Amino acid sequence: LNRRLAEFGTTIFAEMSALALRTGAINLGQGFPDTDGPKEVREAAVRALRDGRGNQYPPGPGIPELRTAIAAHQQRRYGLSLDPDTEVLVTAGATEAIAAALLALVEPGDEVIALEPYYDSYAACIAMAGGARVPVTLRPDGSRFRLDLDELRDAVTGRTRLLLINTPHNPTGTVLTREELATIAELAVERDLLVVTDEVYEHLVFDDAEHIPLASFPGMRDRTVTISSAGKTFSFTGWKVGWITASPELVTAVRSAKQFLTYVSAGPFQYAVAEALALPESYFTGFRADMLAKRDVLAAGLEEAGLTVYRPSGTYFITADIRPLGESDGIAFCRALPDRAGVVAIPTAVFYDHRDMGAPFVRFAFCKQRHVLEEAAARLKRAG
Ligand code: PMP
Ligand code: GLN
Repeated sequence: LNRRLAEFGTTIFAEMSALALRTGAINLGQGFPDTDGPKEVREAAVRALRDGRGNQYPPGPGIPELRTAIAAHQQRRYGLSLDPDTEVLVTAGATEAIAAALLALVEPGDEVIALEPYYDSYAACIAMAGGARVPVTLRPDGSRFRLDLDELRDAVTGRTRLLLINTPHNPTGTVLTREELATIAELAVERDLLVVTDEVYEHLVFDDAEHIPLASFPGMRDRTVTISSAGKTFSFTGWKVGWITASPELVTAVRSAKQFLTYVSAGPFQYAVAEALALPESYFTGFRADMLAKRDVLAAGLEEAGLTVYRPSGTYFITADIRPLGESDGIAFCRALPDRAGVVAIPTAVFYDHRDMGAPFVRFAFCKQRHVLEEAAARLKRAG
């Protein structure tokens, strides 16, 4: 293994899902739903397979039907008009979009600012691109984790190439506000930075939080690569259909990397996701309401079990503090939890450079059936 990757080992998601399988524990670690997405979308995939649509290499940028559906979605939801031929690129999940964007846009030695705790592939992809990661830490503040905008501003140097933003934010559940996003946009314009923004949880925002794409702020259209994924929005994490939207120049750049990573992504699923994006609004509101109810079940259960909960405004993750249980090391806690309580969770420390800051936090996924969440909470409570 080369030096760029040596520090990363096996992803925490693989480690913890294997632990769940081995111990039979309830898996609230890796974020995947335990119920599949809409039946009509699954049937669309079956039809595409059977009718021979997409069984051979689809076009490099993605099938036109899907690119058109993505552009229509951005227009309908956010009033962003995109040319489906030049401003949309289909990728093998958001994971490939992140990798291709960083490989295409980062020069060796460039600094990339990422919000810490950060989704684990960011660090690995910055490293593979030869970049230097500069974490800006979201800090607990009342009931949420908050970005300190002054810290973000101070982190920008003459070598900063790119801001890697994620909202709604995995693992903290923070949704950046309009004011925070406006400040980030101003900073990007002022310092002439590119922005890669991971918005895969765009449809999972709760209470009075609102998801606003960074690309919609003044001066951002031509410097922003926006990433999303059908895995999250339609509960098909196994299909690996994601996409970017950006200016023609940035799409061309990202595509230059993508063509040598996977060339194309799974054909028949692209036809199905094109249909999914055209589902009526009731699908999206129903999905959000379902996840909101689940959030509340798990949050209440974790509180009853004695943890301090940061109630997320978005995503399907809850970050909780284990110190009220007399614990302070999330990694040791999560390694012991399957035996102790029959539950798997993710130690948030692995998403930090400043491991000590992340040590007491643990992430639980709530994209699971209600009875599963209730059983997990009961087990945690029993285990004390
Ligand atoms: N970004 C974030 C913030 C995520 O949480 C995930 C999935 N857990 C991804 C990217 C990867 O998405 P995909 O499965 O579409 O590759
Ligand atoms: N994004 C999912 C999570 O945060 C997992 C994706 C993966 O396994 N790489 O749990």
